[in-house]
Amino acid sequence: MCSASLYLHIPFCVSKCAYCDFYSVPCRRDDPRLDALVERLLDDAGRWIHDLGVNHIPTLYIGGGTPSLLGAARIVRLLTRLGRLWQEAPEEITVELNPESLDEAFLTACRNNGVTRISMGAQSFHEPSRAAIRRAGSAALTLERLDMVRRVFGTAFSADLITGLPFQDKAILLKDIKTLLAYQPAHISLYALTLEPDTPLVRMARQDKRLLPAPEIADALYIAGRDALEQAGYSQYEVSNFALNNKRGAHNIRYWRMENWLGLGSSASSTIIDDDSGTGIRYTWERDVDAYLAGSAPLVERLDRLTLMKETLLMGFRYIDGPDLALFQKRFGQPLEASIPRSLAAWQRLLVSSPSRYALSKDGLLLLDRFLLDVFAELDTNTLDTI
Ligand code: SF4
Repeated sequence: MCSASLYLHIPFCVSKCAYCDFYSVPCRRDDPRLDALVERLLDDAGRWIHDLGVNHIPTLYIGGGTPSLLGAARIVRLLTRLGRLWQEAPEEITVELNPESLDEAFLTACRNNGVTRISMGAQSFHEPSRAAIRRAGSAALTLERLDMVRRVFGTAFSADLITGLPFQDKAILLKDIKTLLAYQPAHISLYALTLEPDTPLVRMARQDKRLLPAPEIADALYIAGRDALEQAGYSQYEVSNFALNNKRGAHNIRYWRMENWLGLGSSASSTIIDDDSGTGIRYTWERDVDAYLAGSAPLVERLDRLTLMKETLLMGFRYIDGPDLALFQKRFGQPLEASIPRSLAAWQRLLVSSPSRYALSKDGLLLLDRFLLDVFAELDTNTLDTI
């Protein structure tokens, strides 16, 4: 028997944003695949929870894509029938939504069926930036939907903003943040725009060199946004996540702590860890919703000790509390200090350390990728030393 969080992927959106590398395909609300998807996710949830012996689901996250495209009737069906799979409801149930497909009936259905938290993609209120990234809807519609979320969920919601967008400067970003703060969300995610290869935005930026802010300006924008959120009382607790009054997202914390999760749907993956051997198993569904609906099986991958240790540190150092030291010791049979002593010494200035914690400081988080390169190189060398 084990504990695992549950993630359900809804791979449909109204249209495709130019920067997006998540697996999602454009779809209308009357597309019969939405009904088929609900049924397949419910079947899979029942089967996998049973087969993996999951007897505790601490958190449920319905993400995408755009879960609000499901509409009220389907989300009620999904949540009601999921509720029959557990004796004790998850402590946190989050549903993602996007403004252009949201209506009050959907929000009310979520609230009346156990959803504790909403996550809304706002991204920007600046129309030229929104147009450049081909974001559906408009700034005005997003504000209207934020009002709706406030009415139904109070402040129990998160909203996403992106830094480094086309036509964004510091004044525009700070104005966006101020606009969002007026709604007092309990949680804000501030993402630095990532340029994923093969996305339309990358191709557009190749043709128009002035489309995106230069890398140093994009870095400065993220820092300005981070500082503005901190000054407004939102504490950074992960690279891109900020919480008011410590209202952190419990589901994502489980990823950063590398605790079991069961992810279902096209492109989703599950990771189940054996804490006694420090190894795991991962199941990944291909990025093809039609194959998923036709009953495709996931790819199965064994995670050996080194791979799992790297992933544990990759995820753990994103988190402001750092990797869980007791869990690390239990899982890998050695303390963190003994696993990466040279990296910890070299990065001492940017680490916050105590007997119970090794974590990157806020400035250290800005250099997370470089830190991880050192950590992985050290782990690889250790492995070679022991061969
Ligand atoms: S709404 Fe989100 S998932 Fe859908 S295309 Fe845009 S960024 Fe991707």
